[in-house]
Amino acid sequence: MRVKSKGVVYLVGAGPGDAELLTLRGAELLRRADVVIYDQLVNPVLLRLARPEAEIISRGKRASFSQEQINALMVEKAQAGKTVVRLKGGDPYVFGRGGEEAEALATARIQFEVVPGVSSITAALNYAGIPLTHRGHCSSFTVLTGHESPEEAATNLRYEEIAKIPGTKVVLMGMDKLEDWTKSLISHGLDPKTPVAVVDSGTRGKQRSVTGTLGTIAGVVAKQKIMPPALTVIGSVVKLREKLNWAEHRPLFGKRIVVTRARGQALAFSRKLSELGAEVLEIPAVKTAEPEKREFFIDALLSLNTYDWIVFTSATGVATFFEYFFRRFNDMRDIGGAKIAAVGTATAAKLKELHLQVDVMPEEFIGSKIAAAMSKHSSIENVKVCLLRAENANRELPEALEELGAIVDDIGVYKTVAETEDLFGAAEGFRQHGADWITFTSGSTVEFFHQRFDLPKLMKQFPAMKIATIGPETTKAVVALGLKTVLEAKEHTTTGLLTALLKANK
Ligand code: SAH
Repeated sequence: MRVKSKGVVYLVGAGPGDAELLTLRGAELLRRADVVIYDQLVNPVLLRLARPEAEIISRGKRASFSQEQINALMVEKAQAGKTVVRLKGGDPYVFGRGGEEAEALATARIQFEVVPGVSSITAALNYAGIPLTHRGHCSSFTVLTGHESPEEAATNLRYEEIAKIPGTKVVLMGMDKLEDWTKSLISHGLDPKTPVAVVDSGTRGKQRSVTGTLGTIAGVVAKQKIMPPALTVIGSVVKLREKLNWAEHRPLFGKRIVVTRARGQALAFSRKLSELGAEVLEIPAVKTAEPEKREFFIDALLSLNTYDWIVFTSATGVATFFEYFFRRFNDMRDIGGAKIAAVGTATAAKLKELHLQVDVMPEEFIGSKIAAAMSKHSSIENVKVCLLRAENANRELPEALEELGAIVDDIGVYKTVAETEDLFGAAEGFRQHGADWITFTSGSTVEFFHQRFDLPKLMKQFPAMKIATIGPETTKAVVALGLKTVLEAKEHTTTGLLTALLKANK
């Protein structure tokens, strides 16, 4: 095929929903894309891989494009020289019209590549504890769409033949006409007692699955209000689920947990929660911005060698400080010979990444304890301390240091401001359905989250919702809003918070 376009289109399989199931090739292309066009089935969390300046076009409930418009859009963007990633749920060539999209590109002589994805056909079953095949059960499988009415003459599907094929059957897009086609299979001789499972939103945190038989499943689905996207699996492999249901037996499975940390900082925590089976709603309450008093920061940066101690109180503080530091200096030695204190393990870990030794690491964020830990190392009387932290943080720590005689420069390296964007629709979903837990990792996230959602009102609206905090300072901010029931982590790290959540959900 001779291509005419300057740009290129990648039809990328986004996988079945669990964001971690995107292929490495898919992730690489998303990072490169100028334009990303995605479907409703795609987990929007994947978009965080795209560059901030990439143009993101969604084809979902809000903006609905026809198939022709999507095809035209891809062609137009590629002709303009763009790198286009067209993200499609599951595998692009399993239903979902990927073949037609590729044809449209070929016809317009656009350069394209199709990246396979993990299809719901295997993945949604797997996460419901069902292997598609098993030597003891079957040696074939059949995949069909349940979208075509068995009554219509035009249907491609011959239920009388399908009913006779041995092996597992997987039906996609079959929710609307579930009763019709299950009846049709039974009337053509398939045993009404054949085990059946329906999996809704398979592999996502919000996955639900139900089981029954070919004869009963339509009733079960109606009663349990199972919604698309869902697929149906028919066959004796369904029985293996009792033994193999690893995903739904994870300790946080089915729990909706809100993570309010700043984007970028939340990743490790969110991933751990997802791994434990939770449905994670990332609703960052805060983001960092440049400090107001930049000149103070610059002065400190230029006189680092005059300090005896440099104190970091957060991983964000470390990251932002060094971002500026390396803009100005090319050599780590310009940091000078000051001793380094890091409050908390996460802060210390960030410094260790840079191969900087931490001289003192107070674990608790309590001013007097930090000052005591530093003076235990060596007297801080009359020594110069540079505090590198959030601008306008509370005065407790500098005051405690000054009390022991230190000369403190309290330097704001960043400012915490409210985050109000809702890139992936998580905030909208939260307003509508609430959650099981809201997690907070700092007092400021509590305050900013409250400004956005009115926490006491929300807790009334969803009485079963609970709050978990990383430690006493954060709890204080929650209690200040008149809220009482709070789960507090014993160890004041996100790992400690996880441990507390696991214990509470036992
Ligand atoms: N290309 C996709 C299928 C697109 S057709 C793939 O390979 O998975 C859309 C249908 O796929 C839905 O109606 C539903 O039957 C099924 N489906 C897609 N994602 C699903 C999921 N996470 N859980 C259950 N079924 C899913």
